[in-house]
Amino acid sequence: MLNIVIFGAPGSGKGTQSELIIKEYDLAHISTGDVLRAEIKNGTELGKTAAAYIEKGQLVPDQLIIDMLAGVLDSKKEAKGVIFDGFPRTIPQAEALKVMLNERGTDITVMLSLEVEEEELINRLLERGKVSGRSDDNLETIQSRLVEYREKTAPLADYYIQEGKYVAIKGMGTIDEIFASIKEVIDARK
Ligand code: ADP
Repeated sequence: MLNIVIFGAPGSGKGTQSELIIKEYDLAHISTGDVLRAEIKNGTELGKTAAAYIEKGQLVPDQLIIDMLAGVLDSKKEAKGVIFDGFPRTIPQAEALKVMLNERGTDITVMLSLEVEEEELINRLLERGKVSGRSDDNLETIQSRLVEYREKTAPLADYYIQEGKYVAIKGMGTIDEIFASIKEVIDARK
């Protein structure tokens, strides 16, 4: 299986590039942000708990995310591979993902890290906020999300460097230019 982790700060273009990768390589998409937003919309217990964290720009507790993911992963069993978008976001999540994939006889192929300057991230998220209707795309929440990213998520790069899976991608430039760099990396590893 071709299993890809797409990694980067909020606003780095993970969702946009994921869509292009999925089309090109025929992969299943797992976006924990999308799954959580669906839970919120459906008014589930998990959704209610998650909403309180998301609105403050904080990460949802690991155990909730890990429990939620096992079910989602099983629903994609028949896929050629999976792209993980917005997950893992902490070291415990990465460790849990490795165990879950190994139990299913597979592993992460590569982690693509989209590198974008902070000023550009904030501008992109504020622009998105005008149309997305997302309660977390406002300046105050964006700043909290960036702090959470720096403190809890950025250290994951080291984890994947140690695993020999980390590849940095320049995330500035046109969508097509960035996708071209991504394709080169995937084609070299698949
Ligand atoms: P973005 O990467 O653009 O900030 P996402 O849609 O991936 O947005 O996630 C939105 C919010 O959902 C996050 O700020 C966080 O509160 C929560 N969330 C999503 N995925 C996870 C995860 N793997 N672990 C913890 N919280 C998560």
